[in-house]
Amino acid sequence: MSDIAVEAVELTRTFGSRKALDGVSFSVGKQEIFTLLGPNGGGKSTLFRILSTLLRPTGGGARVFGLDVVEQAHDVRARIGVVFQSPSLDKKLTVSENLRYQGYLFGLQGRPLRARIDELLNRFRLTDRAGDIVGELSGGLARRVEVAKGMLHKPALLLLDEPSTGLDPGARRDLWQQLDDCRSADGVTVLMTTHIMEEAEGSDRMILIDHGRLVAMGTAAELKSEISGEVILIEAPDSQLLYNEIAARYEVAGTVKDSTIRLERPEAHKLAGRLAVDYGDRIQSVTISKPTLEDVFLDKTGHSLWSEPEEEQT
Ligand code: ADP
Ligand code: MG
Repeated sequence: MSDIAVEAVELTRTFGSRKALDGVSFSVGKQEIFTLLGPNGGGKSTLFRILSTLLRPTGGGARVFGLDVVEQAHDVRARIGVVFQSPSLDKKLTVSENLRYQGYLFGLQGRPLRARIDELLNRFRLTDRAGDIVGELSGGLARRVEVAKGMLHKPALLLLDEPSTGLDPGARRDLWQQLDDCRSADGVTVLMTTHIMEEAEGSDRMILIDHGRLVAMGTAAELKSEISGEVILIEAPDSQLLYNEIAARYEVAGTVKDSTIRLERPEAHKLAGRLAVDYGDRIQSVTISKPTLEDVFLDKTGHSLWSEPEEEQT
């Protein structure tokens, strides 16, 4: 048996002249927690829709447990749980009613369905909320119900589109714990999209996508180790001018965004010290930090995860 849960090969999707996905290839191992990290408009939801059989690729292909997402869509659907970005719960029904109807949809009923619902309510710490109307739950609780619903029929692969958008850090950590519990209890493989780097940080492996292209793939540690040393951030009002001078004088390369200059250096402390002495009157602050996934993204694409690529495309 293959150890691969998801395999995408040269996956491409165009909308008119716009390439939402442009030749993306990657694979996800069974029982991995895998993240697609990218900015708004990067192509995450397009990839999510193709893998959940809701959208056809215009080029390349993808397989889920060896099954083609186009040719064998029906068989793929039986093996996946899908959690959409916009809530798919019935707000007028209670938590347990939402789960029960999901069960009926998958042909579950009676005692096995009740047992599975109890198991999930317990795992997602929703037992005392079972009778609550979904519309009255907090965002974090409603998201848990959403994920529980996606796990109801014991899918082998759970696909989630930006599951923690709008959640506070505490609720996000809870969700992570629950996904990990689902993996331990049901052996599920998890593939989720996010634009939040802290979220990708916790996954086993990830791909970074930008403008429909895969820009990096690996574990967080692997990706960060590609950055040469530490990162120096310099805040300065005349950032562009100052950067030009620094780049010429110390033969370093970096990027400038608004009032922030960013440099990567193996011996960051030495350079930072010299900068403070040489340009102290023009610099507001100098900080040195370990590279983050944001730095990896910036390094690969030249722009930050937070920039709005929509503007460039139109
Ligand atoms: P993300 O989920 O990463 O924000 P999407 O996959 O939603 O990105 O979108 C990627 C690109 O494809 C964007 O430029 C978006 O405007 C475009 N796009 C997505 N869906 C459609 C569609 N149905 N019709 C036209 N353009 C689309
Ligand atoms: Mg999206």
